[in-house]
Amino acid sequence: MQLSFHGADREVTGSCHLLACAGKRILVDCGLRQGSRELEAENAAPFGFDPQSVDIVLLTHAHLDHCGRLPLLVKRGFRGEIVTTSATRELAQLVMLDAAHLQGEEAEHRSRRNAHHGHAIDEVALAPLYDIADVGAAMQRFGRTADYGRPIDLGSGVRATFFDAGHILGSASVLVDAMENGRRRSVCFSGDIGNAGRPLLRAPQTPPSADAVVMETTYGSRLHKPMRPSIEELYDAVFAAVKRGGNVLIPTFALERAQEILYFLREGMERGRLPAMRVFLDSPMAISATEIYRRHPECFEPEAAAALRDGQDPFAVPGLHVTPDVASSEAIAAVKGAVILAGSGMATGGRIRHHLQRNLARPESTVVFVGYAAAGTLARQIIDGARVVHLFGEEVPVRAQVYTINGFSAHADQAELLRWHAAIRPPTTILVHGEMNVMQTFGGLLQNTRVEMPGPGDSLEV
Ligand code: ZN
Repeated sequence: MQLSFHGADREVTGSCHLLACAGKRILVDCGLRQGSRELEAENAAPFGFDPQSVDIVLLTHAHLDHCGRLPLLVKRGFRGEIVTTSATRELAQLVMLDAAHLQGEEAEHRSRRNAHHGHAIDEVALAPLYDIADVGAAMQRFGRTADYGRPIDLGSGVRATFFDAGHILGSASVLVDAMENGRRRSVCFSGDIGNAGRPLLRAPQTPPSADAVVMETTYGSRLHKPMRPSIEELYDAVFAAVKRGGNVLIPTFALERAQEILYFLREGMERGRLPAMRVFLDSPMAISATEIYRRHPECFEPEAAAALRDGQDPFAVPGLHVTPDVASSEAIAAVKGAVILAGSGMATGGRIRHHLQRNLARPESTVVFVGYAAAGTLARQIIDGARVVHLFGEEVPVRAQVYTINGFSAHADQAELLRWHAAIRPPTTILVHGEMNVMQTFGGLLQNTRVEMPGPGDSLEV
């Protein structure tokens, strides 16, 4: 089995790995690079392989850094089948449509700015990677649906089995196995591995064994705080800010984190731990994602699934306002003493930037970061203690209270990654989806396995 690496190599975003075995070329994920402008500029570059030569794409989950370049793959000639779970298929459509919208807006914005400054317009540099029609074409490539634990025949004796990764709704680790020289060989792609003990999703599952794993290491060098104290910290932060008449801004990823926070806010209000207050879900994408969550009880842990099938809505926060359109979102500007959930999670775009512009200078307001913040993003600047940040060409002083609560991570921490790895006992371990120093720390802890940390374009025989 020949593996080659085309994204998330010694970095966290842009997952894309190519496996050649038994005459098949199988791509696992095809994600966008995210974070700095330089990284994002690389998204238009060639893939490093011929898209037409790929037979099948196995998609681990619907996060943009795993599915975001699929429309480009199809635009550049991929005509094979995309295989994933039913929930991932729905969420991926939402995520890719949102990306197409954003790219269109950004391209228009850049071309207006260039025209205004009298610069020559470079049409290629301004073009979005893909548009809504390209997303439609990519959706046509989605074929068979994967059920957890049931092998899917990919032809030529190659099989793929999806295991619940417990990361976001529909997420999976994927085991690919094939006969080679009379022996069955296998490689497991971790996708992103979730946390055990979450309220909505099951704990991550692992395949019984594999000859090699390609494994994420996002939090390979740190331990998360346990979940319960993190929920209490969230309640304390919300309670204090609402009491003093400030707003609580929660920059949130639209998938998983938004639904979890809604779940905890509902629980907190029902238990009397939080006061009656207004909660704004100010993210069209999170609103749509929450609808998709309600349609997939098969992905929930048993108690939450039973409640949902019983007609109990885990996301029905008392005092919840959803604001899909711009006018209702803008009306939030006048609000005081409310909780506002808005995207993007790393504050690199989206409505949260308007709320930050209005609230960061207010000492009575609070910003609560509940997710991963990549280097170079606005979220990371604020978390790292910036006194002043730049928003919409303005200098905004940071006087609001800032909380970073990392116990909500949808990613496994070091201990959980080690546990996942130990359950599979692979002779070869290929680390991806992590910063280099993190992978080195994590790799140093692994025993009885050959550890590889491939760079972009590298290949390996397993
Ligand atoms: Zn992910």
